[in-house]
Amino acid sequence: MRPFDYARAADVDTAIATVWRNPGGAFLAGGTTQVDLVRQNVLRPDLLVDINDLPLNRVEDLPDGGLRIGALARMSDVAQAAGVVDRFPLVSQALLLGASAQLRNMASMGGNLCQRVRCGYFRDAVSPCNKREPGSGCAAITGFHRGHAVLGTSDRCIATHPSDVAVALVAVDAVLRTRGPGGERSVPIDDFFLLPGETPQRENPLEHGELITAIEVPAVPVARRSVYLKVRDRASYEFALASVAAAVEIRDGAVADVRLALGGIATKPWRGRWPRRRHGR
Ligand SMILES: Cc1cc2nc3c(=O)[nH]c(=O)nc-3n(C[C@H](O)[C@H](O)[C@H](O)COP(=O)(O)OP(=O)(O)OC[C@H]3O[C@@H](n4cnc5c(N)ncnc54)[C@H](O)[C@@H]3O)c2cc1C
Ligand code: SF4
Repeated sequence: MRPFDYARAADVDTAIATVWRNPGGAFLAGGTTQVDLVRQNVLRPDLLVDINDLPLNRVEDLPDGGLRIGALARMSDVAQAAGVVDRFPLVSQALLLGASAQLRNMASMGGNLCQRVRCGYFRDAVSPCNKREPGSGCAAITGFHRGHAVLGTSDRCIATHPSDVAVALVAVDAVLRTRGPGGERSVPIDDFFLLPGETPQRENPLEHGELITAIEVPAVPVARRSVYLKVRDRASYEFALASVAAAVEIRDGAVADVRLALGGIATKPWRGRWPRRRHGR
C-alpha cells in the first residue's frame, strides 16, 4: 500500500473543497471497500478525506410520504428505520440481504452506491482491466467470468454492478442529491449508473469532489407491499448471482402499478420496463 494523507472534514463545504483541490483526493465514508482497494493497490489516493463527522446520517419523512435518507446513514440504521420498513420493505430487505451485520453497521448509503465492482481482475492490480487501467484490455472476457453481466455489457467490460440497495432504489425512482464544486444538483438514480460502453472506468456522473448528500425516495404507494429476492452462493453473506426488487398492485383485475428492477445480471441496476396490461389479454 502506498502512503497517503488523511484529513477529517467537519462540514460539507470543507470536505468538497479539500477533495476538489487535490486531484488525488477521495472521500472516505465507512471505508469498508475503499480501504480494501487501497491496500490492494487498486486505488492509489494521495489523500483520503474522512466524511464521517458530516451531519448527513438522518432518515427523515418527507411531507408527501416519501423519504430523505442521508448519504452517511449506515445500512443497518436505514434497514431498521420505521418509514423504510413500513413504506419501502424492498429497500429494507435489500439492505439486510447485502454484506454482513458487521459491515452493515459501518457501511454508509452513499458508499454503497459508489462501491466499485467485485470483478477479480479489477481487484488483483496486475491483470489487464479497462476499468482499472483504460486501454489495457479485459481479462474477464476470455478468462473466468462466472457471475459477470449478461445485460448492458460492452467489448470493454462485463463486470456486474454489485449494490443490492441500488436495485431497490431504482425500482422506486429514487433521486440522488449531490453537492460539488459547481453547486448542488439532483440525479435520478437511473441516470446515476453508467453503462461501461467505451469508458468503463467511469461508473457514475459524479465530478471530482462532488459528494452525494442524500437519497430522496418519492411516495410510491405500491411499494408498501414489495419484496427484494436474492439468489447467492451462500446464505451468510455474498453478492447477488441474480436478484429482483418487485412491487405489483392489482386493481379491478388490472395491473394498476408495477415496479421491477433486476440485480446481479447487468452492468448497472437494471430497470424492468413492462407495459401495464389487463389480466387474460
Ligand atoms: C465482504 C463484503 C461483502 C459485501 N457484500 C455486499 C452485498 O452483498 N451487497 C452489497 O450491496 N454490498 C456488499 N458489500 C459492499 C458494502 O456494502 C460496501 O463496502 C459499503 O456499502 C460501502 O460503504 P462505505 O461507507 O464503507 O464506503 P467507502 O468504502 O468509505 O467508500 C466507497 C466509495 O464511495 C465513495 N463515497 C463514499 N461516500 C460518498 C458520498 N457520500 N459521496 C460520494 N462518494 C462517496 C468513496 O470515495 C469510495 O470511492 C460487501 C462488502 C464486503 C467487504
Ligand atoms: S470485466 Fe470490467 S472490471 Fe473486470 S477485467 Fe474486464 S474491464 Fe476490468
